[in-house]
Amino acid sequence: MSEPQNILIIGCGRLGSRLANRLSVSGHYVVVVDKRKSMFEKLSFDFSGYTVVGDATEFQVLRDAKISQADYVFAATRSDNTNLMVAQVAREMFEVPTVLARVYDPAREAVYQALGVRTISPTNLTANEFLGHVDASRKSRSR
Ligand code: AMP
Repeated sequence: MSEPQNILIIGCGRLGSRLANRLSVSGHYVVVVDKRKSMFEKLSFDFSGYTVVGDATEFQVLRDAKISQADYVFAATRSDNTNLMVAQVAREMFEVPTVLARVYDPAREAVYQALGVRTISPTNLTANEFLGHVDASRKSRSR
């Protein structure tokens, strides 16, 4: 494995817990924040990172999660506003080298990319998957 990284994940739902489990098993140092303690039940038995209960839009919660030591922040809640706010704070105030935000609304994605926040849009990724199947079936028919 490449050098272990400090990775802070915001939101321990379906996406965040999956990322946390995979990264922890791969040997990275993972901290996960969620405002609902029960969400940490999604972490697997071999998850060896840390959990912090709290609202990630609060500075003290991010400090408790050791954001200043993070190499990566993944903002993976269901709320675009929360993800983008945390991402901006991580970048601007804590100077985290790599910050990625899950953003559902493709219209917002462009605005935040312009502000330097890297975004991942499930909406665009899913649309591209669907569209790829249309192209693929057209190509196989024309053969
Ligand atoms: P999912 O949409 O299933 O990936 O879950 C998103 C997770 O993000 C849920 O577990 C929420 O409790 C969590 N969440 C949403 N807003 C915040 C917030 N401001 N701070 C911390 N966790 C949050």
